Amino acid sequence: MGLFNRHKTVYVDSDILVVGGGMAGCGATYESRYWGRDLKVVCVEKANIERSGAVAQGLYAINCYMGMQWDENQPEDHVRYARNDLMGLVREDLGYDMARHVDSSVHMFEKWGLPMMRDPETGRYQREGKWQIMIHGESYKPIVAEAARNAASEVYNRIMVTHLLMDEAKPNRVAGAVGFNVRSGDFYVFRAKAVIVCAGGASHIYKPRSVGEGMGRTWYAPWSSASAYALPILAGAKMTQMENRIVLARFKDGYGPVGAYFLHLKTYTQNGYGEEYESKWYEHTKELVGDYIDRHPVPTCLRNHAFLEEVKAGRGPIRMVTKEAFQDPHKETVGWENFLGMTIGQAVVWASQNIDPKHTNPELITSEPYVMGSHATCSGAWASGPSDCAPADYQWGYNRMMTVDGLFGAGDTIGGTAHKFSSGSFTEGRIAAKAAVNYVNDLRNEQPRVSERQYEDMKKLIYKPLENYRVGRNEIVAGTVSPSYILPINGLQRLEKIMDEYTGGINTDYMTNEPLLTRGLELLGMLKEDLDCLAAEDFHQLQRAWELHHRVLASEAVARHTLFRQETRWPGYYYRGDYPKLDDTNWHCFTLSRYDRQSGEWELEKVPVHHIID
Ligand SMILES: Cc1cc2nc3c(=O)[nH]c(=O)nc-3n(C[C@H](O)[C@H](O)[C@H](O)COP(=O)(O)OP(=O)(O)OC[C@H]3O[C@@H](n4cnc5c(N)ncnc54)[C@H](O)[C@@H]3O)c2cc1C
Repeated sequence: MGLFNRHKTVYVDSDILVVGGGMAGCGATYESRYWGRDLKVVCVEKANIERSGAVAQGLYAINCYMGMQWDENQPEDHVRYARNDLMGLVREDLGYDMARHVDSSVHMFEKWGLPMMRDPETGRYQREGKWQIMIHGESYKPIVAEAARNAASEVYNRIMVTHLLMDEAKPNRVAGAVGFNVRSGDFYVFRAKAVIVCAGGASHIYKPRSVGEGMGRTWYAPWSSASAYALPILAGAKMTQMENRIVLARFKDGYGPVGAYFLHLKTYTQNGYGEEYESKWYEHTKELVGDYIDRHPVPTCLRNHAFLEEVKAGRGPIRMVTKEAFQDPHKETVGWENFLGMTIGQAVVWASQNIDPKHTNPELITSEPYVMGSHATCSGAWASGPSDCAPADYQWGYNRMMTVDGLFGAGDTIGGTAHKFSSGSFTEGRIAAKAAVNYVNDLRNEQPRVSERQYEDMKKLIYKPLENYRVGRNEIVAGTVSPSYILPINGLQRLEKIMDEYTGGINTDYMTNEPLLTRGLELLGMLKEDLDCLAAEDFHQLQRAWELHHRVLASEAVARHTLFRQETRWPGYYYRGDYPKLDDTNWHCFTLSRYDRQSGEWELEKVPVHHIID
């Protein structure tokens, strides 16, 4: 008991609490101030919003811009595009809502100082593809963070949020969050009328291709630790499409992005023998998914599928043909600069492996799966839609509010809306914030009620890994091994192994089935029991411990959803060996889950997909 009292408790009251200061969180913080001039708006971030989240290192392109001012695309076009890419299953109301507002966000970025590339002939933003525009984006995140800092009443950096607080008077209403400062160890109780979760996606739930000393190198940010899913799941929010994990074809060993290469440099792929291979798999893929293979552009997962089949047929590796494009000095420069903006490690890998793309066509590889809601995938929380265009059964209150009162989300947190990327996540943060301000105003003087017992119980739970270490270290037998505890890194590797081997990771070529998933869930259950014995020697390890808790819960959601959906909807992302085909008759629907914290039980259901755009 003495140990828990050693940590000072800091109380912060606010009207709107934004959890996570990445792209969506900065958008939410900025817009909360715009609509809520007199409200207290607090943003809490486990790193430092200046350089946090998936955009920390900068980006080379903004992947979602309609260009409505030049009539380049309309929001309806984007809905069709995302629907096609996700094999028919997206929340069209949410996607449309984001798309109609995204251009205004990009215009603000430019106003705040983000250097945009422009087409010298037309003066318009330089397009990389139909939806992407090119930026000099090394300072993208600091620029966006500055706007959020100016808007917030306070930004609390270095605080890892571990749990949401619930209202004592209304069981299904959120009332704030708790967490701890990863440097000082202070315990924080944030009481708030509305909470907007913007805590990013999930990497490191599957065993990565980069292991051992390369382990920190993953495609999605290694610090994206699934809080965006675990926090709402623990609060009883419904989740959707958690089975829709994404796999990406990227440059080998550095996970370097390929978009600019395909779209701007007009490169293409070949098998190990220099042959075009995608067309070879046309009939085979049509057998599995029917007409979806004839859609244009070919859905991302199906392009992965041809890649994987070609490699399995023994004709790997798959290479990107760069030798032709790199003869053009301008394209060569663009090719290298593409990495300087966001994945400099890829250039270092090539240098270390004697790969000059002007003379050698570099290898591609498919990544381990990731869970996220903003890329070519749409896992996340089930949210209420906009009042003017959401179908009746997708509306139960305020825009982007989850199935828990007062709990909002944006970016990777929200499910059903793929292809938001950085600009769309920021925009969704703005949309959620506007609705959260309305929610707070409608509450009038009603205050959330949080009992001292609730957060004191959480405090004990949160610091338990420190206590486990303090006691267990007396029994250390070799190195860091103690029979009484497990360290976060050991738990993480165990999680990654289970997910990899049982729920369709790289080890099985993304294949799984009911017996594998059932066994995987049993093993996840045992891992969850052992998390009681997690040990942390310092606050940094305490953060790792809670990141692991969040990853395990999100992983369980992935496994349960994958088991529930009895079809293979996205070959190339994962395969159900027992249901190898897409089944529109029975599964043209969303999957929803709800976790009951008291019983530990999950409920799953199907919900119709409404098409509101022709
Ligand atoms: C390698 C890569 C390349 C990409 N390329 C592009 C591109 O070229 N163009 C483009 O437009 N988009 C790109 N994206 C997508 C874009 O980065 C994401 O869509 C966007 O960042 C998602 O926004 P978000 O706010 O949901 O998550 P993030 O921006 O990741 O923000 C999440 C924030 O929450 C914080 N957080 C997490 N857990 C907690 C917790 N428990 N407590 C407190 N804080 C927490 C994190 O530290 C982080 O700051 C790319 C992403 C990656 C990873």
